[in-house]
Amino acid sequence: MWVSEVMLQQTRVEAVVPHYLRWMERFPNVLALARATEDEALALWQGLGYYRRCRRLLEGARWILENGMPQTEAEWRSVPGVGAYTAAAIASIAFGEAVPVVDGNVERVFARLTGCRESGAELKRQAWEWARRNLFAKDPGSWNQALMELGATVCTPRDPACGSCPLAERCVAKQSWTVAELPVGRRKTASVHLLHVVWVPVADGRLALRRIPPGQWWEGLWEFPRVDATEDRDRAEATLRGMIPGAWPERLGSFRHVVTHHKITVEAWLVRLEAPNPIDGCQWFGRDQLDALALPTPQRRILRLARPFIG
Ligand code: SF4
Repeated sequence: MWVSEVMLQQTRVEAVVPHYLRWMERFPNVLALARATEDEALALWQGLGYYRRCRRLLEGARWILENGMPQTEAEWRSVPGVGAYTAAAIASIAFGEAVPVVDGNVERVFARLTGCRESGAELKRQAWEWARRNLFAKDPGSWNQALMELGATVCTPRDPACGSCPLAERCVAKQSWTVAELPVGRRKTASVHLLHVVWVPVADGRLALRRIPPGQWWEGLWEFPRVDATEDRDRAEATLRGMIPGAWPERLGSFRHVVTHHKITVEAWLVRLEAPNPIDGCQWFGRDQLDALALPTPQRRILRLARPFIG
């Protein structure tokens, strides 16, 4: 439950299922996960995004190994990376503790059912309070799952199925024709357009990649040398030329990649070199070693474009 809850944060069920199955096969229990290296865990996580979740899961497993398996909501909240929602979901569903659970689905049901016109932190606070007051304490796990499921399948963000909703008769939004207005929307963050230029050094059937430094997107994963060329393309390319002097980049391809509200145009260029000489911050990898590396999704896409050039 813990693994699936973490994977499902900001990620669709269909995207999670194959990752979840692979992950549970490789790490069937806390001990197996606690003993894994960060690279092993990240390699299995790649494609799911938001890699901080993976690191926190690993940290949590090591914490449990030292401190014992938590059971109550309060104990679960001591585990690194476990917040109010996850702790309450595990404690109520797996251990039967009488605590409410509020996710985005429950917030939406609450706002419509009660006609609450708050948003953000205040909506959240009132939704938790409401869920606490209305909890069915005899079977909190089923109750919490039922509420979340109602939000996910009946009281959906668009076109809710009010005609088949068991709460329709007491729903303020339904009775007052305000369903489409609730919950009151948060303002959308404006899109930011970015240009990333990536050079793919290849020599002797090998490719050069570097570990992404702390503080950057995708930190700790591997990438081909990449620069942000959004503001000043010439200066960005000069940085790459400084790393690989005398290079003659050949265009590999380009594509769009979206990270939250950032729309990134990624341009990939192949740089053929005579020998795998040292490149600042990079290591050379042969064909067989590449699959074990954790790469962010756009870099894995570039790797697919570059594979034909390593035989
Ligand atoms: S009646 Fe409609 S708006 Fe109200 S809780 Fe049910 S599905 Fe949601």
